[in-house]
Amino acid sequence: MTPARRARQQALSTLAIHGGAREPEIDDPIVTPLVQSASYVQDVGTAEGLKYPRYGNTPNADLVQRRLAALESAEAGLLLSSGMAATACALLALLRPGDHLLACKWIYGGTIQLLTKEFTALGIDVTLADPLESRAWRKRLRKETRAIFIESPVNPTCRVLDLRPISVIAQAEGLALVVDSTFASPVNFRPLEHGADVVIHSTTKYLNGHHDMMGGAVLGTAPYVEEVRQKMMMWGGAPDPFACWLLERGLKTLHVRVSRQNENALRIAQWCSARKEVRAAHYPGLPSHPDHEIAVAQLSGFGGMLALELAGGGRATERFLRKLKLIRHAPSLGGVDSLISEPRHNSHAHLTPDERTRLGIPDGFLRVSVGIEDADDLIADIEQALH
Ligand SMILES: *Cc1c(COP(=O)(O)O)cnc(C)c1O
Repeated sequence: MTPARRARQQALSTLAIHGGAREPEIDDPIVTPLVQSASYVQDVGTAEGLKYPRYGNTPNADLVQRRLAALESAEAGLLLSSGMAATACALLALLRPGDHLLACKWIYGGTIQLLTKEFTALGIDVTLADPLESRAWRKRLRKETRAIFIESPVNPTCRVLDLRPISVIAQAEGLALVVDSTFASPVNFRPLEHGADVVIHSTTKYLNGHHDMMGGAVLGTAPYVEEVRQKMMMWGGAPDPFACWLLERGLKTLHVRVSRQNENALRIAQWCSARKEVRAAHYPGLPSHPDHEIAVAQLSGFGGMLALELAGGGRATERFLRKLKLIRHAPSLGGVDSLISEPRHNSHAHLTPDERTRLGIPDGFLRVSVGIEDADDLIADIEQALH
């Protein structure tokens, strides 16, 4: 192999299976062994190389961290025990009491509570900006601002933010741009290639993809990821080796899963948008979507998430949900099984109906996480439940 060929960046589908792996030796198992040990023999007379699961340096964590870094074109990555642990430690590594964080108001419900309740209690000022307002970001900058936090595509409305203008501001002002890219997965969007400094994932979702583990990830420069690791060690948000092992297995099929989910979601969104029982189908792949052009320019796939607003409001959604047979009513997303949920009863239950409506989540709003089942079967299930 010539050096030029070796240096060539491999495709995502290959990296999801081989990225970050060491050179194999004869008799190596193809599947990474699970090292479910909470302690490791240590060299005498030094703290060098000390291994402990809470430090995030055990064998199963190490490999997946390198693999995710390869998938996101990042220098380094860190796995944590949940998406929330990832967001908390990623931001704690950037912000001190007295600092200001500028966040988008369109972010995951749990993240809003983390920022407005926990971070403000630590003396970190948080502003939630409305991205629809003109000059929303620039207007709210302060001399104490240290970072900008956004999520795209947005949970649960499926809006897509244009990263370019925000990254231009962040760069000019020397701020860290942090992007929660959970909805996209690296198959559909790689924020570091569009000017972001830090990427966050709930690996519970697409990266694992099988509804059987919980985890989070932070990707960025090596010195920054080391700072996040220091926070994780102190606040106790490290992942269990078995969770890392399950994540590694799930990652191997990431590309085929997400490609199928992209196809299925588009089919379902197109079908639903033609039905009178559906007041609106929100999917970035539909030309009617307000951010369709941004999505075409920035994403490599429109995603497996869509939102439906039923014409009959809250009562129609209840009837509809009780009739579904294949698509199950459950929180969470990104896995091989199709799931549907009502944000007013889970992620956004802490808001009033008016506050939800202003966020684009009126009663009658359903979030659909499209799985990898046959699209015709999924559409048939939706059709019989709408009757
Ligand atoms: C689920 C989710 C989180 C939180 O992740 P957990 O693994 O549940 O802690 C954060 N951001 C987004 C966009 C999510 O969908």
